[in-house]
Amino acid sequence: MENFAKVMGIRFPKITLDRAVGIIGNQIEQSKTDLFHVITVNPEITMACQKDIMLRSIVDEAGLITAYGIGIVMISRLRGGNLPERVTGYDTLLRLLESGNRKQWSFYFLGADVSTNEKVCKVIRDKYPNVLILGRHHGFFNQEEEGKIVEEIGSLRPDILIVALGAPYAERWIHKYKSRLNSKIAIGVGGSLDVIAGKVRETPESWKRMNVEWLYRLIHQPSRWRRQLILPRFAIRALLFRERK
Ligand code: UDP
Repeated sequence: MENFAKVMGIRFPKITLDRAVGIIGNQIEQSKTDLFHVITVNPEITMACQKDIMLRSIVDEAGLITAYGIGIVMISRLRGGNLPERVTGYDTLLRLLESGNRKQWSFYFLGADVSTNEKVCKVIRDKYPNVLILGRHHGFFNQEEEGKIVEEIGSLRPDILIVALGAPYAERWIHKYKSRLNSKIAIGVGGSLDVIAGKVRETPESWKRMNVEWLYRLIHQPSRWRRQLILPRFAIRALLFRERK
């Protein structure tokens, strides 16, 4: 049993990136049939969960949730919950690729634009030659294509389904098709494929260490400023939030 920290009613297990990757690895090695949904919960999802009951139940039903973003970790510390560190989709994906390269795990990459989706698979094939890329599809599809994508993933049965459609679209998508995807793990990774493919610059380690990745992303993708307005609102609401025992 993990220990939990509550932030705005959401129970985050107190786990490090190492532990999260270990839990996911165990799920892959065990021959379970149910899809294990991993959600990296950011402040936007946390805030949306306050009003959106469906999204809240998706988060509650997930196999594993992790604290995406220093905001959630800091709030947990100020409220005595002490989450050990942030566990982002990007870092988790890189670690899964490393483990997958050793253990020959199979992947399906869904999401990002047409050229990024193609490029990312090339980059991954070069860097992680033992990873099995069973299939891929860009993330801008219509309803008819969506049905075919779900069918394709279901018939390919990847160990890990990577969904880079943006949050919380990816989380809703995975939940909607959970029973048909025949994947051991599914995880939404936001814009991670854009970074691996070199379309978006990776945040330098020093910025990450100083907990100002959000600032780096704001400088390099100024169009995100509207979305980041939610961060101060999240901080205030989360600090004042009355957690139920
Ligand atoms: N995306 C997609 N289909 C869509 C909308 C977005 O494939 O209909 C991709 C987009 O190209 C990008 C990722 O989803 O690669 C979202 O990246 P972002 O950094 O905005 O992730 P978030 O922080 O929203 O999770």
